[in-house]
Amino acid sequence: SKVLVTGANGYIAIWVVRRLLEKGYSVRGTVRSESKAEHLRQLFNEYGGKHEVVIVEDITKEGAFDEAVKGVDAIEHTASPFHLHADDPKEFIEPAVKGTLGVLQSALKYGTDVKRIVVTSSCAAILEIPPSPRKFSELDWNQQALKEVEEKGRDALVMNKYRASKTLAEKSAWEFIDENKASIGWDLVVLNPPYVFGPVIHHVPSPEQINTSMAEFYNTLLKGVKEESQLASLGNCWIDVRDLALAHVLAIEKEQAGVNRFIVSGGTFKWQDFVDAAHKAGVYPESALPKGVPGSGYAASVTHLIDYDTSKAARVLGMDKYISKEECTRDCLEDFKKRGW
Ligand code: NDP
Repeated sequence: SKVLVTGANGYIAIWVVRRLLEKGYSVRGTVRSESKAEHLRQLFNEYGGKHEVVIVEDITKEGAFDEAVKGVDAIEHTASPFHLHADDPKEFIEPAVKGTLGVLQSALKYGTDVKRIVVTSSCAAILEIPPSPRKFSELDWNQQALKEVEEKGRDALVMNKYRASKTLAEKSAWEFIDENKASIGWDLVVLNPPYVFGPVIHHVPSPEQINTSMAEFYNTLLKGVKEESQLASLGNCWIDVRDLALAHVLAIEKEQAGVNRFIVSGGTFKWQDFVDAAHKAGVYPESALPKGVPGSGYAASVTHLIDYDTSKAARVLGMDKYISKEECTRDCLEDFKKRGW
């Protein structure tokens, strides 16, 4: 069967495309311009007619996906702005919300074969910065970022503008489903990943052009942007991009997953853990890496403010094991090295 992947040239999406093709699906990817199609076509050349790329110039335009949804059996909607350099919250919110609703609307009108739509949301739509350590679940919604953006507008933290866009986009998807229950022939699955790290296979000509989450990974491990004394205190939760791609495949395959959001997370990290893994990997010389205090990220005294209950994804999707920090770090560093970075 055929799957539509929006924003197919993105860091996560291109892994989703790869996993789908490997599993025998036909894939139609959308990108914003012809120049962004080239790398995809080269990378997946061996799949011949099973891989196609179509141009959707502006995902906020009404009917933008009308043509793209025709003849596909499932949709993975990943396209959404994830950068940290815009003043106006609308620059995040409009493409996030209108893009998501646009996909759903086009699927309602022209997606006669569509059975499942998967939306790549984020833990950004779930987490709030808690006063003390807290474990979040699919029942939680990020009200904090929305409130800050409502109150402060352009002066809100840029990360919260992004988080608000993800929250509003996901909420609008669930509202759409609710309002159109009677007329839709498909169901919705939402995936909520935390920070995504792992090898880069999308088109990134220089480290300065790398996507937001991998920029932090690269800059922390190889550019020493973080104070060494902070490496064991700064962290969050994370998932390897290859696990997230697998979750996207399972999300269209598991019948019983419908009408659910799923947190998919490999667990907590402190940056020190990835630094330690980088030393262990032996890909770059010691002198190229920060040191910090080896092992201190795993010390009993270390607290993780945010963690997630991932039991629902384990139970329903079968996401019960995750790639380790060691494997992720080694594979990323080998890739950076090959690129001469
Ligand atoms: P990338 O920046 O690598 O990819 C984003 C994709 O969305 C690209 O195809 C990009 O197109 C497209 N896009 C961005 N803004 C617009 C816009 N205004 N109009 C149309 N298309 C747009 O990011 P990721 O792969 O990291 O992110 C993919 C999805 O995963 C997003 O929904 C993101 O919110 C979510 N996510 C990411 C996490 C992470 O840590 N990376 C964590 C949790 C969720 P173009 O290349 O043309 O700009």
